[in-house]
Amino acid sequence: MLADEALTGRSDSHVRAFALPGGASFRAQPQAGEALLALHAAAAQAGIDLAVASAWRGFVDQARIWQAKWRGERPLYDAHGQPLDYAALDEAGRVAAILEWSALPGASRHHWGSEFDVYDRAALPEGYRLQLLPAEYAPDGPFARLSAWLDAHMAAFGFFRPYDAERGGMHVEPWHLSFAPVSLPALPRLTPALMAHALSGSELGGEALVRAQLAQIHARQVCLVGSPSPETKRT
Ligand SMILES: [Zn+2]
Repeated sequence: MLADEALTGRSDSHVRAFALPGGASFRAQPQAGEALLALHAAAAQAGIDLAVASAWRGFVDQARIWQAKWRGERPLYDAHGQPLDYAALDEAGRVAAILEWSALPGASRHHWGSEFDVYDRAALPEGYRLQLLPAEYAPDGPFARLSAWLDAHMAAFGFFRPYDAERGGMHVEPWHLSFAPVSLPALPRLTPALMAHALSGSELGGEALVRAQLAQIHARQVCLVGSPSPETKRT
């Protein structure tokens, strides 16, 4: 069971470092990290080099993304992925645009150490820069084979996709895998009150606006997620 500070990314004492064959490393909750290594080994048998683009991220990492967008140092997009004119947005518009594509610091599932953004390094075209876009995982994209392989095999290792469909919360993320034995018990424990507590002292841009809509952010970003299939290993 994760502590409150772990649920909101305020502590990293629940994660440890893992290394994939080839040397790439990531941080994860121990059981989740072991499962990812097992998934990697099974995928390798099928000629897939399952690589981790992102695993554990803390509150500070997520806040860095937030602040860069808040200050206009990173682009903002509307719900359809169209770039927005930063100068034309008021503070409420900025907050809404950030929340469209980024989790609120303290509310990212990546804080739990159970979440992994994965791609197939063996299928990366020469000189291609990974973007983590749905098109890359579509039937005509470079990671189509990885995606199909995950559909068939991830449940046996305890993984599912929480962002498998548009539900009005986070957009579809076919690359984002969640380890059910850790994430299922974590989800109901991340409450709006805990999210509010995590924001204390963070000096997040637009914090007052965020605090005023924490219940809606929780309902959309945290609760509107997919569930594991019945075959998914849960212990
Ligand atoms: Zn992710």
